[in-house]
Amino acid sequence: MSEGNWLNKLKEIILVKNGELALKGLNRRNFEDTLAKNIQKAAASCGGVNVWRAQSTMYVTPLEGTDIEDAVACISRVFGIAALSRAAEVEKNMDVILPSVCAYLKDDLENAHTFKVNAKRADKKFALKSPEICAAAGEYILKQFPHLTVDVHSPDVTVTIEIRDTAAYLHKQPIRGAGGLPVGTGGRVCVMISGGIDSPVASWMMAKRGLALSAVNFASPPYTSRRAEDKVRDLLRKVAMWSGEVRLHIVPFTEIQEAIRDHCPEDMLTVIMRRYMIKIAQAIACEDGALALVSGESVGQVASQTLGALVCTDAAANMPILRPVIGMDKEEIVEIARRIDTFEISILPFEDCCTVFTPKHPKTKPSLDKILLAETALENDTVCVDDMIERALTNTTVEIIRPE
Ligand code: ATP
Ligand code: MG
Repeated sequence: MSEGNWLNKLKEIILVKNGELALKGLNRRNFEDTLAKNIQKAAASCGGVNVWRAQSTMYVTPLEGTDIEDAVACISRVFGIAALSRAAEVEKNMDVILPSVCAYLKDDLENAHTFKVNAKRADKKFALKSPEICAAAGEYILKQFPHLTVDVHSPDVTVTIEIRDTAAYLHKQPIRGAGGLPVGTGGRVCVMISGGIDSPVASWMMAKRGLALSAVNFASPPYTSRRAEDKVRDLLRKVAMWSGEVRLHIVPFTEIQEAIRDHCPEDMLTVIMRRYMIKIAQAIACEDGALALVSGESVGQVASQTLGALVCTDAAANMPILRPVIGMDKEEIVEIARRIDTFEISILPFEDCCTVFTPKHPKTKPSLDKILLAETALENDTVCVDDMIERALTNTTVEIIRPE
């Protein structure tokens, strides 16, 4: 048969190797089920795939009309995957395997200088042992592509032949997966999302650890615009390409912010505002079944993120506040923001409610006692903050943000 004919006959699939899942003992099944569902959801946007699993590998078959390249791109963003390979599935017969592998990897082999063959024989009934498969394939490939030499240490192409129970699978070196754990296996968190660089990265990092995302954004119209809200939606659409759907709550925060501005000492404004944000966000988190809040704070980055300020912020919370970027430099955060494609959106110059009433000289070492006194004064003497919080919660809008 000619090369073209071999190529036409090949059925392509995607082999997915689990990541940390292997470590999870009894939970493993639950993790694998979630991963399979997440793969299916991620690939739905490009036509859909079927997923089945055996021998610690997921076999992903594109549905009719699904472009396999698009499916690989979608699946490479699913957390819980260590590596994935686009592979040809062929009959377990060396007379089929050898010409198929040459036809399937023709472009790679033509453009390479060196190669090696890697054989995996999961089906122990297969007549040839792994070293024999390597030897036969090596010899065959060298005949077809005489310009190549074998390099077992750092070859340009690693031709892999896997003999499994179901069939033989042929592929080159795998692509790195997104790593982490399948979203949803760790429960849910509620991210405090601004339009900045840090909180989308913090969201992505928590999704990577298997947590489903709700998000809360505080908007202060007319000080903040509709475009600032849309920016948050755009950012979350990017994050959702990795995390899956995000439940976004937009909280009208103007009334509370004005009350704080009008009745609290100027140098405490930011910390007090952040404490009210926390109180509202955790009410929303509870409603959504989230067990913790997430923020994009990094210690020392700005006045409201000194250790002292973080202590005062934390004192308003009765659930954990996770801060995945806490020890990262801005440059390190930006590197991730670029990778997940949020950076260019984040730097668009729309105002955030945190930047509308910023004090000229914020306290970098706020005293919690003084802050509590200022809040008591605000709550007792002037305005009924509890009612304001109630109103903010009642008027909060909820929407589902889906991948871009
Ligand atoms: P980012 O780049 O994420 O905006 P930042 O360095 O600008 O962070 P701040 O504006 O002080 O820092 O905000 C610190 C954190 O507080 C943010 O990372 C986010 O988690 C939360 N936050 C700030 N503004 C808002 C907002 N309008 N709505 C919800 N959360 C917010
Ligand atoms: Mg910000």
